Amino acid sequence: MVKEPILISATAHYSMGGIPTNIRGQVRKNRDELVEGFYAAGECACVSVHGANRLGANSVLEALFFGRHVGKEMVKDIDNLDFGEVSEADAYNMVQEINYILRNNGIESVSKIRDELQESMTENAGVFRTEETLKKQLEILDSLRKRFKHIRIEDKSRLFNTELQEAIELGHMLDYAKFIVEGALFRKESRGSHYREDYPKRDDENFLKHTLAYMDKDGNISIETMDVTLGKFEVKERVY
Ligand SMILES: Cc1cc2nc3c(=O)[nH]c(=O)nc-3n(C[C@H](O)[C@H](O)[C@H](O)COP(=O)(O)OP(=O)(O)OC[C@H]3O[C@@H](n4cnc5c(N)ncnc54)[C@H](O)[C@@H]3O)c2cc1C
Repeated sequence: MVKEPILISATAHYSMGGIPTNIRGQVRKNRDELVEGFYAAGECACVSVHGANRLGANSVLEALFFGRHVGKEMVKDIDNLDFGEVSEADAYNMVQEINYILRNNGIESVSKIRDELQESMTENAGVFRTEETLKKQLEILDSLRKRFKHIRIEDKSRLFNTELQEAIELGHMLDYAKFIVEGALFRKESRGSHYREDYPKRDDENFLKHTLAYMDKDGNISIETMDVTLGKFEVKERVY
């Protein structure tokens, strides 16, 4: 820094939202039901303690608190939980997914697709977004998802294969990006860190609710909503 300039740029450092859970860390299947035996805590979970925006420095606190709390709740439940039924076909599907990446002989590179995903998400689905940029991003995502089917990795080993891990993670990122974009398109208002330049006002009448999004096996997303449990403070717009 003393001798030459260094690049400073914004970076994603937290994913708001996540796997919906109740206060005990049990994962919600939908508005009314839970997925038995499935718990989440930390950044991947959405317990909804933060409202529409996570305050700076609160994530580690949440991860520590809910890591301990949900762990204790799991201990209470564990004697009454049965193992789910797992078939040979389930295991086969998982192995096939990994083998596909290992054996696929395509022309696309994982790092190239990841770079394009990162850049386009920042450009079109960052804090400031509009219907136009989000729709454009959906098209980009569809094209990246198609290209992902034609990836090729060089390391074919099955031990500590970080290239394989990165490829699997990229598949998950492509799914996750689609949730972000479809959720942002659905929410025709501005709230927290979601700023729709075409809908700059917060709209409690239509959008004071959680978004629950589901992806089918073809990558299509459907959206439901869930009521927000309000605390003792009156809901009002944040002004400075
Ligand atoms: C640049 C940056 C700055 C930040 N600054 C702050 C800050 O100042 N204050 C603050 O509070 N928070 C901050 N955060 C956020 C905070 O660091 C994270 O939210 C928090 O560390 C998340 O902890 P976690 O245990 O929930 O998840 P992680 O730390 O992400 O742990 C998840 C673990 O699961 C593993 N894993 C993933 N998939 C699988 C799988 N399929 N099988 C097995 N293991 C798997 C991963 O390898 C990882 O070890 C920052 C984050 C970043 C990136």
